[in-house]
Amino acid sequence: MEFTDLKAQYREMRSDIAARIQTVLDHGHYIMGPEVEELEQRLAAFTGARHCISVSSGTEALLIALMAIGVRPGDEIITTPFSFVATAEVIVMLGAIPVFADIEPDTCLISAARIEDCITPRTRAIIPVSLYGQAADMDEINAIARRHGLVVIEDAAQSLGATYKGRRSCNLSTIGCTSFFPSKPLGCYGDGGAVFTSDPDLAKAMREIRIHGQSQRYVHTRVGVGGRMDTLQCAIVLAKFDYFDWEIEQRIRIGARYNTLLKDKVQAIAQRQDRTGVFGQYTIAVDNRPVVQEVLKQAGVPTAIHYPVPIPMQVAYASFNTSPRFPVAEAMSERVLSLPMGPYLSDRDQDRVVEAVVKAVEQARH
Ligand SMILES: *Cc1c(COP(=O)(O)O)cnc(C)c1O
Repeated sequence: MEFTDLKAQYREMRSDIAARIQTVLDHGHYIMGPEVEELEQRLAAFTGARHCISVSSGTEALLIALMAIGVRPGDEIITTPFSFVATAEVIVMLGAIPVFADIEPDTCLISAARIEDCITPRTRAIIPVSLYGQAADMDEINAIARRHGLVVIEDAAQSLGATYKGRRSCNLSTIGCTSFFPSKPLGCYGDGGAVFTSDPDLAKAMREIRIHGQSQRYVHTRVGVGGRMDTLQCAIVLAKFDYFDWEIEQRIRIGARYNTLLKDKVQAIAQRQDRTGVFGQYTIAVDNRPVVQEVLKQAGVPTAIHYPVPIPMQVAYASFNTSPRFPVAEAMSERVLSLPMGPYLSDRDQDRVVEAVVKAVEQARH
């Protein structure tokens, strides 16, 4: 059994992917070819955001978003301590200061109430992460941002296809950032990502920053990065995109099936009623995790931990480990465990996972 079965997905889409790749090889526009714009238009339409700009990774998407809003050294950006390190990394790269607001214990999403506590006159932006494919309390977060004149950048690396009160992730705030890393809900076969916005000035800025701050060839009106997504990767995402609606349905079905099968036996990360998550990960919370994980490994069930250490407790981020504290993130980092998940997970394999998990949790009690 695979943790994320990319091979089964490839078998399904093989000829479409081959055809898309062949088209690029034939036209030869490897950088900024026609597939780049085609993908951007399809993704913009999909999310409802007016503009989509493809970039070289999810990390670069976050960096470009922060550069576009003009983050300067010393600015404070509020984010979650419980995410992949890239969320905070880009803040530090710009000389800004990540301020970590604790998470909700049941969803592991950033707590809107804790965000309020973190605001100072130097706060510029909030980066909520749609962790495990579920958006945070975006209405509350956007309202806080409006009150204090802040920008909200959704880190939607795990949540493309998710909805919040009927609106799509990546279109829930000023800017949305996603990733096409292979194991994300919509993955390419290398690195890729995208930024989304409905603000025309920010869209223009992000388009320019993506290509070395260039407004026309060799005219550099701002400092940018080498952040393009290559044509072949865009072509691969386009081929996969035709299956994406079906895959989202499967993810939601399989996630709900896990919830039902594990109910009253194992604590699953909670799903809020007003939003649909895409289960970028299906994650449970257990005690005595090392034992649970080892028993599952022996049973042939691969698992992963998202994430074992809160970002401010990582060595490189120790200087940002300031009050307020984040006890919930600390506690959950010792308890979370992600199970095999993906649109191609068969009911049979899922039953095997559930059976093994229930046994492992029981065994870890003794
Ligand atoms: C994967 C991920 C990123 C980084 O995306 P890359 O494409 O790997 O650079 C950022 N934030 C979160 C929450 C992620 O899961």
